[in-house]
Amino acid sequence: MPASRSATSLGPGLPARQQSLRDHNLALALRVVSDAGGPVSRAQIAGATGLTRATASTLVELLLAGGLLTETALLTAPGSGRPAVGLALAPGGFGGLGLEVNVDYLAVTVVDLTGEVVLREVLDGDQRGRSPDVVLKAAARLAASALATAHGRGLRVAGTAVSVPGLVRDGRHVRAPNLGWYAVDVLAALRRNPSVAALDLSIDNEANDAARSEVTAELRSFLFVSGEIGVGAGIVLDGVLFRGTRGWAGELGHVSVDPAGPRCRCGAQGCLEVVAGLEAVTRAAGLTPTQGLPHGVALTAAAEAGDGATLAALEAAARALATAIGGALHLLDVGTVVLGGAYARLAPWLVPTLSRCLQERLLWSSWEGPIVRPAAQGAEAASLGGARSVVARLLSEPERWLVT
Ligand SMILES: [Zn+2]
Repeated sequence: MPASRSATSLGPGLPARQQSLRDHNLALALRVVSDAGGPVSRAQIAGATGLTRATASTLVELLLAGGLLTETALLTAPGSGRPAVGLALAPGGFGGLGLEVNVDYLAVTVVDLTGEVVLREVLDGDQRGRSPDVVLKAAARLAASALATAHGRGLRVAGTAVSVPGLVRDGRHVRAPNLGWYAVDVLAALRRNPSVAALDLSIDNEANDAARSEVTAELRSFLFVSGEIGVGAGIVLDGVLFRGTRGWAGELGHVSVDPAGPRCRCGAQGCLEVVAGLEAVTRAAGLTPTQGLPHGVALTAAAEAGDGATLAALEAAARALATAIGGALHLLDVGTVVLGGAYARLAPWLVPTLSRCLQERLLWSSWEGPIVRPAAQGAEAASLGGARSVVARLLSEPERWLVT
């Protein structure tokens, strides 16, 4: 739990405006360190923020005392003979937890303040046919166990980001047709576990959280397409997730690729996910998924073995994906498609056909062809992206975590 506002007051006698200015400057100073990619000095923080050396030093002392920064080896600044003490984000002090509830697995990831993964656990198992209460009890137990392990290693978890395969309304109610959930209050259910109730909880669509985990200095704009039983997308423009007016953007799985196609759980016909989602591809390949294992595992094994029906089913899925993704790229003007979820594992078989079909479709492909590649973070990226979003929030409002 964050310390209360009164306990975090950095100067009990400060007027509200000065308090808010100091909070703002604390976040600025921390941002300089987190963006630097390596240790920085107090003087560099002052230079980058426009604050005086004295103010920067005061802020740094608070952040050091609060366990958000740590001192490193001496730095020698270019053009200056005097070495300065380096400052970096403190590993191992604070962290964030990401909890993903998906159709055929649950996953948890804990990262520290530097974004490094401290622990990750995945529980495979088909969640369909189980009540939301049962699924969320299991998810809460997984989160509580990860919390206990993190605490045992001295990590203070600042919050939990929950990723779900569906729409989130009003920051809590989840509509996930693939799970048979139509207005499930996920956060209220998770809070019934006392260990989880003590945390700051937030919730987002799994493709959004997974897309966040793929943003790098080099890759700032892309369409992230997550394929499991359902198909979702995260739209990232100049490093920022595009959420739409109500937070519901990215429902690529319910874009029609065949108006006369099979009925989708959403009620419409021929949605992308009933043609190219893993259940549909597994069926088209004539495979029987192993009990308790995700569909992607059986598909990957059959594709690796060169099974003809599986390869044909994956090729057909790639064509359907190109129809939906081609539409999205024409609307958005982004040049890179990142395949996540089980599509990341299946990329060797999906990418060639998908790239060729997009090349044929895109109006500008003779100028610049599309780049299609698997997610760098692999199949369980949503819980990682969620955990990192907790850390990003912490870095943007460090005053909540400083007790003076
Ligand atoms: Zn649909």
